[in-house]
Amino acid sequence: MSRLLALILVVLTGNLLFAADPPGNVVLIVHGGAGLPEKFEPGQEQAWRADLEAALKTGFAAMKNGTALDGVEAAIKVLEDSPRFNAGKGAVFTRDGTNELDASIMEGTERKAGAVAGVSRIKNPISAARAVMEKSDHVLLVGAGAERFAFRNGLTEVSPRYFWTPERWQELNVEAEKREAKKGTSAGTKKHFGTVGAVARDSKGRLAAGTSTGGMTFKMSGRLGDSPIIGAGTYADDRTCGISCSGHGEPFIRHAVAFDISSRMRHLKLSVKDAANAVFAELPIEEGGIGGLIALDKNGNVHAPYNTVGLPRGTITADGAVNVIIKEK
Ligand code: ASP
Repeated sequence: MSRLLALILVVLTGNLLFAADPPGNVVLIVHGGAGLPEKFEPGQEQAWRADLEAALKTGFAAMKNGTALDGVEAAIKVLEDSPRFNAGKGAVFTRDGTNELDASIMEGTERKAGAVAGVSRIKNPISAARAVMEKSDHVLLVGAGAERFAFRNGLTEVSPRYFWTPERWQELNVEAEKREAKKGTSAGTKKHFGTVGAVARDSKGRLAAGTSTGGMTFKMSGRLGDSPIIGAGTYADDRTCGISCSGHGEPFIRHAVAFDISSRMRHLKLSVKDAANAVFAELPIEEGGIGGLIALDKNGNVHAPYNTVGLPRGTITADGAVNVIIKEK
């Protein structure tokens, strides 16, 4: 795709989304990953909608007597527990047939953050990320050390088999065949990513953001994407916005997408829409820079640009009204 065409696409979808998303006062927004399946199985769209709604309502309830951080963690846990998303149960497979999960969380007041990566025994990686933030001196823990830390702090341990689902196993086999046919080139045929994320703003104006993923199907064992990297896949700053990204992680890391949006808002005084569109338009699509993100600014305005066929997402406003969008009309 030419860069010009890509830019037009981003601008068009950006405007479309701005019209579809509510204008302000959103307290919680969640996403279910950039992209859509080529075709929905019967009942699949309704099931996604129900999961996103449940995540919004659970997150909203957690924020009633809690914080934006509570809302983000609670909402993401619901989506991690659903086998329909590429996070927690339902995570995609590495080329070695393992599940290696990544998650990060950040709060925007003191800009504290935590993340875990390459874990395969923690039921809810987002809670482990929060534990790293609140109970360690570190920001990112990986692999066995992250798991030991999580279990020491009371998080639920599961067998690696818990994460196995037949749909994801089949996706691995399909991807492996495509790669074989293309002899080692990066196939890049995936239409749906399925990572989950949430951004919240509580009644005190505190922002928080989080992202959780199994990564990308057929990734190398040990590979980390943008989701556990603060500033790439997740960022929150009460002065600007909270962000959670989904897509092909490598370009999101190289472009520090989440931090760059916040930074442009802070220093160039751009709106969340203009900052997100500008950063998004600079992603090198021809180098695989495909994906999307949700952004919630300090006043409760939402922007959700993407250059895939869709970005399933939902919002809940202060009055409890829920709005879920699976496909743009
Ligand atoms: N960004 C994630 C990664 O690269 C994948 C996704 O969003 O689904 O690991």
